[in-house]
This record gives sequence, structure tokens and C-alpha cells, in this order.
Amino acid sequence: MKAPLLRVNNLTVVNRHDIRLVDSVSFSLAAGEMLGLVGESGSGKTVTCRALMRLLPGEGLRLHAGEAWLGQTDIMTLDDRRMTQVRGHQMGMIFQNPASHLNPVMTIGGQIAESRRAHFGAGRREARDAAVELLRQVGIPDPRKRIDHYPHEFSGGMRQRAMIAVALACEPKILIADEPTTALDVTVQVQILRLLMDLRDRLGLAIIMITHDLGVVAQTCDRIAVMYGGRLCEIGAKRPVLAQPLHPYTQGLINCQPVSAGGSGRLKTIQGQPPSAGDFPSGCRFHTRCARAGDVCAAQQPPLLASRDDPAHGAACHFPLQPLSHREGQW
Ligand code: SF4
Repeated sequence: MKAPLLRVNNLTVVNRHDIRLVDSVSFSLAAGEMLGLVGESGSGKTVTCRALMRLLPGEGLRLHAGEAWLGQTDIMTLDDRRMTQVRGHQMGMIFQNPASHLNPVMTIGGQIAESRRAHFGAGRREARDAAVELLRQVGIPDPRKRIDHYPHEFSGGMRQRAMIAVALACEPKILIADEPTTALDVTVQVQILRLLMDLRDRLGLAIIMITHDLGVVAQTCDRIAVMYGGRLCEIGAKRPVLAQPLHPYTQGLINCQPVSAGGSGRLKTIQGQPPSAGDFPSGCRFHTRCARAGDVCAAQQPPLLASRDDPAHGAACHFPLQPLSHREGQW
């Protein structure tokens, strides 16, 4: 594993009833790496990343514990002014629906140029040139002309590219992509995923890809972290996680996929429904849906332990699909 750019330790977010919607989540992220954060809706993926951005929505959610080290700085301890600088220069985020995150009454170029002026003190001309270059980098055709267009004049795919350009305007080291292709049709999805991979490879951008779609991570990501009920249940490099999953939930997700993403070709579903946030079962939060569950599963939360063969691949399960060691791993 490459040296981490970001190291998250025991990140825990509670709601107003002190229920842990994100519970002791730990992982690292290296420059030029794409980490897929996978799970069903309500698994805590987005709340985890919003906590990292220090952009938890209202609704009484608050950081309860945890650290997030960006270099030598624990960004969880920064005051609002310094965190705003981190969000500008170090971390950016893109969303499923660009229309609601781009300013509808400002041209695309204006939105990029505004960031360049605010964060780099760029002059008007310089900021405009940078905006043209960014639009070119994200594959917007004829960027000198499109720079003066408004978001509603772009197609869905072009709007997603434009939002990526706005996020890149501050030259972040880390990009969090929250279901960036879910609202797009299949051919445009592929183009956007290719663009993100290209940015990872060309700029060394570290990307956290939040998705419910294992097929997307199979195509794009270097490592996979699987979440269920606010907890990490499996993490490791893409190949071992997909080829030799340790956790029954990961196996269930794989079985839901067509062959190309690692599934068997016979589509199955995972029985039951994921728990709603705040209404988690005791012990292993997956035990109400798990065919391997034993008595201990409802009583005790399993620790996240490394595989016996691979210290970078781990899972939290009392009856894993492959043997676990007694060690915590390096993720
Ligand atoms: Fe299933 Fe038990 Fe493992 Fe949870 S701990 S995934 S219930 S076997």
C-alpha cells in the first residue's frame, strides 16, 4: 500500500439520540488511489464522507469521536476558518445531482473563476484562462465558448463534468465523489468514470468513490471498503475483496452483480431489508439478514480483523468466509 495522504481513525457520528450512525470507521487513502466506499442506502457512506468534509447536515448529527489526519493535521480539530481552507485547497466533493450544486444563475466559467480568484488570488484574465483549461481537462468540447454558458445549457453528463471542473478549481488532493454517475445513462456513466480514473492517474488525485454499485468499483477502484449499518464490514484491495470476500454481506453484494463485476451470472438478492438509520440490531448489525449467523452474532459485535493471508484485507465477522487472524490490519 502507498503512503497515506489521509488516515481516518475511529470516526464516529451520532444522531440526536446518541445512536452511532457511523461507528468507529478507520481507513487510509493514498495519493493517486481510488477507494470505493460501498453499501446499500443508509449504510453510512455519505455521512462518513460528509463528516470528513465537516459538512454534516443538520438533523442533529454530530461528530462523536475520531481523527482524520491529512498529513500532520487532524482536520477534525480545525476551527471553521481553517477547515474552509482545507475544503478549498485539499478536499473537494462532487455529487449525484450537479444541478443542485452548481449555481444556476452564474456561468460555469464564472463559478470556476470565482474559486481561482478566492483561493489563489488570480486576476480576471488568469482565472478565466484557468477555467478554460479546466473545462478542457474534464472533456468539455469547445471550452472557450462553453465557459460562458449556464448550467441549464449543459446536458446531464456535461453538468457532471462541469461540477468536477469546479471541484478541481482549487487543486484539491482528495476528491470525494458521492454517487457521481447514478443519475446518468449508461454510456455517459462510463465516460464520467473514465474521466475520474484519468484524473487519478494524471494528477495523482486521491478519490473516495461512494456508490451502492459494486460494478462501478469493480471497474474503477483500487481498494474497496464495504459498509453496513454504519460500520466497516470489509476492506481490502479490489481483487481479493471481489475474488475471495471474507464477509457474508460482501458475498451477498457480489451475488447481486452480473458476471462482469465478479458475480456468478445468476442474479440473487440479499434477503431482508437494511436496517433504517438509528434502528440497528444488536451485535453484528447484519445478523438479521445473514445465513451464517449464530447465537454470538446477535450478542457481540465482531471486531474488524485482518485475513490470515493478507494483513491489508480484513473483515468484521464471527464466521468469515475465509480464516481471519487475531490481528487488526493495516487499512
Ligand atoms: Fe453473519 Fe455473524 Fe458474520 Fe455478522 S458476524 S456477518 S451475522 S456470520
